[in-house]
Amino acid sequence: MTSTSTPYMDPALQPFRPENLAVTAQKAGSHTYTKTSHPTRFGKYAEIKTRDYEFQFDLEGRIKFIRGLGSSWPHPFETLKRTAGNDWVYYTVGAVIEQQGIRDWLGEYYLPCFAYQSNAITNFTPYAHPAVPGALAAWAQLYANIRTTRPELFPERTRVFLDLVAASDDTALFVHAQKLHTIIGGRVSVLPPDTRHVDYEVIPLTIADGCLYRCRFCIVKSDQKYGPRPRENIRAQIRDLKTLYGRNLPNYNSLFLGQHDALAAGKERVCTAAAEAFEAFGFATAHIHQPRLFMFGSVDALLRAGDALFAALDRLPFKTHINIGLESVDADTLAAIGKPLKVADIRSAFDKMLSINRSFDNIEITANFLIGDPLSPDHHQALADLLASVAPGPPGKGAVYLSPYAGHQDGSALLETFFAIKDTSRLPVFIYLIQRL
Ligand code: SF4
Repeated sequence: MTSTSTPYMDPALQPFRPENLAVTAQKAGSHTYTKTSHPTRFGKYAEIKTRDYEFQFDLEGRIKFIRGLGSSWPHPFETLKRTAGNDWVYYTVGAVIEQQGIRDWLGEYYLPCFAYQSNAITNFTPYAHPAVPGALAAWAQLYANIRTTRPELFPERTRVFLDLVAASDDTALFVHAQKLHTIIGGRVSVLPPDTRHVDYEVIPLTIADGCLYRCRFCIVKSDQKYGPRPRENIRAQIRDLKTLYGRNLPNYNSLFLGQHDALAAGKERVCTAAAEAFEAFGFATAHIHQPRLFMFGSVDALLRAGDALFAALDRLPFKTHINIGLESVDADTLAAIGKPLKVADIRSAFDKMLSINRSFDNIEITANFLIGDPLSPDHHQALADLLASVAPGPPGKGAVYLSPYAGHQDGSALLETFFAIKDTSRLPVFIYLIQRL
């Protein structure tokens, strides 16, 4: 467990307590993303506490976290989080599912449980647990109370915050997410696994649509043919995103360049978009330090990319994470899943990933492979052999993510397969859960 900085509270912003509400118009959380076993908040936020719940809000007054404080809440470290895409995600530490291995699975202390279909590794559905609908009902009740509370009860600063909350009803939250998706050209169907390092808190910016391969197995691909966006379109997105994030913008320090293959858009488009977004979004003075840049890349884009691209990325004011979908090093499996690549291409891309990770301090390339039913023992063995034979890279770099094949999986068999590969691997290995935005 890592310690976090002590939150600072302006004396003028001390909690105000009308009856049983403790309202704090601004709190300061940690200014770096750290991995902790207890709930940690990052950047600046507002809070309302009741006897039974802690509700936390972004600086636009939008509900962001709900945590139960009573004995009926499954675990004091578990939280409901609302994303910028307006999805609720339940963060379990595993108590309810009697699993203590979450850190080994994911590299994090929590397992995000989605209310939509994903490539889950357990059948745990917290949304059926009475505590979760209870928390959402408590939020609806609190919202109604705020709408009907007499404003003169509150000091000025608190009143301004409560007015923002009152303006952020369910419809407003839905419309805000719709606007986000409209600006970037649709929902982000999957975030790179590396975005876990910033708790998936990224501003998405589409610099290229679609992907090169349109693999048969893939459940997240877009309908569009691959094509980079014109420079003016990218600039318009940056301008509109800046307006949309408004006063909450300083709570972001990370950028996701979408969609499925930003790397193939080439050095000029990638580096210009990243640099212009860094400037426009004010990442240099964000409430959270250590900015990061995330993107996906294809095997072809990685193999084609020259040192000039990586040298340019290395000089950007971000730590850059590029995630490459490799899927398998077994020829029959590549054919069966409809990934139009040869094993030799996959191996070359894997070797290049290791080489880039050794050569550029500010760049991490990570890789994804598939696991689980209905993939063959040969596929799993070839993957285990590859990861066991590699020379270890620089510490903390070059993670390999194993993505459970979409569809039904037997959770314990899947984890057995996962640990059989992880335990012999010389690179860090984690599960990849498909999370959208
Ligand atoms: S796995 Fe990647 S390249 Fe293949 S279809 Fe999905 S998004 Fe496209």
